[in-house]
Amino acid sequence: MFKESLDLKLSSVFDSIWCQDVDGIPCFRMYIGGSWVESSSKELFTVDTPINGKTIAKVPSATAYDVERAVDSAYANKERIREIPGIDRIQIFRRAEQILREHKDEFVRTLILEAGKTQSDAEGEVKATLERLHLTLEEVRKIFGEYIPGDWSEGTSGKIALVIREPIGVIGAITPFNYPLYTASAKIIPAILSGNAVVVKGSSEDPISLLLFTKVLEEAGLPKGVLNTVTGGGAVGEYLVRDERVGMISFTGSTAVGKRIASLAQLKHLHLELGGKGLAIVLDDADLKHAAKCCVEGALKNSGQRCDAISLITVQKDVHSEFVKYVLDEVRYWVVGDPRIPEIRIGPLINRASVERVHYLVEDAVQKGAKILAGGGFNGCFYQPTVLDDVPLDARIVWEETFGPVVTVTKVVDEDEALTLAKKLRYGLDACVFTKNFYRMWKVAKGLEVGEVTINDLPRHGVGYFPFGGWKESGLGREGIGYSIDEMTKLKTVVFNLEPAGLGKLKHLHPPTP
Ligand code: NAP
Repeated sequence: MFKESLDLKLSSVFDSIWCQDVDGIPCFRMYIGGSWVESSSKELFTVDTPINGKTIAKVPSATAYDVERAVDSAYANKERIREIPGIDRIQIFRRAEQILREHKDEFVRTLILEAGKTQSDAEGEVKATLERLHLTLEEVRKIFGEYIPGDWSEGTSGKIALVIREPIGVIGAITPFNYPLYTASAKIIPAILSGNAVVVKGSSEDPISLLLFTKVLEEAGLPKGVLNTVTGGGAVGEYLVRDERVGMISFTGSTAVGKRIASLAQLKHLHLELGGKGLAIVLDDADLKHAAKCCVEGALKNSGQRCDAISLITVQKDVHSEFVKYVLDEVRYWVVGDPRIPEIRIGPLINRASVERVHYLVEDAVQKGAKILAGGGFNGCFYQPTVLDDVPLDARIVWEETFGPVVTVTKVVDEDEALTLAKKLRYGLDACVFTKNFYRMWKVAKGLEVGEVTINDLPRHGVGYFPFGGWKESGLGREGIGYSIDEMTKLKTVVFNLEPAGLGKLKHLHPPTP
């Protein structure tokens, strides 16, 4: 284990964005105003791979001054990008798609090293980024606005309105560690395509793939200053949220940070994609083998570090033992280990703090009466795939986001009991139900207070072809190929009075008596 090199092996196209320090560690720069720059304080922070804790790179710690310069640049260029014809904006992203495809392997390798992703998860993320880019290029052309005739009301008679979509101006994008390339691209692409300038900050756990993606857009011909990429911790995000010139914050991350951002954002437009507690409801008429396979994948994929992960399974009492047997059969195929080995399906968690948090949740459940049927231990950042059964409702793991590879099972009498439990969850992102009965599917789908319900499969946000987003404490707004463009544009109603031209005057069937 751990014999292979931790070298990012970047090709010469990325030469301008990093240099080596005296110890041979790559030191990256940020992208502000069209130049690759150091922090004004010259300070750097380390990016350590969760594979073995070694430092793989250093990245600038942006200061308040750096963020201000990044916003200056975006603000100065917001008119420039909106005036570039759509057809030319599309060409830039077409070239970006081609460059990203050519450098796919470097992105995959970077995601494995900086985020601890398995080969197939890293490949899946790059593929999803390419597909998202491609589909957004098609979708953006369908977003026009609408025409409203005024003759339905006396007050607007003789008038028509065109409701048009305009860019917001400067969008601040803040992204989490679990999909560092995809989530950032899913904000940058619709924002710029719909005519906005952007300042983006990725997670300080794994900021390198975003810097590489920024370089791809520069190479593709994005005008200088339209995209600005800064690196640093939560304070850097706050400088961005506090800047009055930023018209919108598009944030994906935890509910706690989302609430903090909402408290600072004043009248900014907010799009918040926050935490989740994906509930699976397995009913007694379900295909139990299929349900178990989906539930295990939903809980363990990306090491359980997904907002839409299945992190609580309620199963009907009469099929509970059979379901759990299938779960245990399935978990055997999920091997944890060095993510550089292609057969491995579960890599490390992002850092030791995450491991400790997951372990605390598991131990708390066991202390309160849950049974551990598999796993329950860890080594470094590698948490074993774990199955907890008969989890009592006072265990914290029933209510808190797990964000680790734990299959959590609890029994219910029927769907009504599962729905009663669901109503008490603070999160409302995703849920799924397994049943063959249409009426039960519909009853559960209508009864759940979540942004997305999946019937007979695990929740998968995928490339955002279907819209997703949260209810309750899981967020505000909708993410998705067309939906993100809607979020990143604002409506303007243009009213035309046609009466001076003698047009549009109402000719009433029964004219009002004077
Ligand atoms: P996080 O701790 O909330 O961090 C998210 C981003 O916010 C990071 O870039 C972080 O910077 C930054 N940040 C931290 N404090 C900030 C502040 N006070 N002001 C502004 N920005 C601040 O989340 P995470 O641990 O990276 O990601 C996991 C969470 O994201 C989970 O809760 C997961 O459910 C959620 N998520 C939701 C979705 C969805 O679609 N709903 C998708 C993916 C993930 P640093 O990294 O430098 O601290």
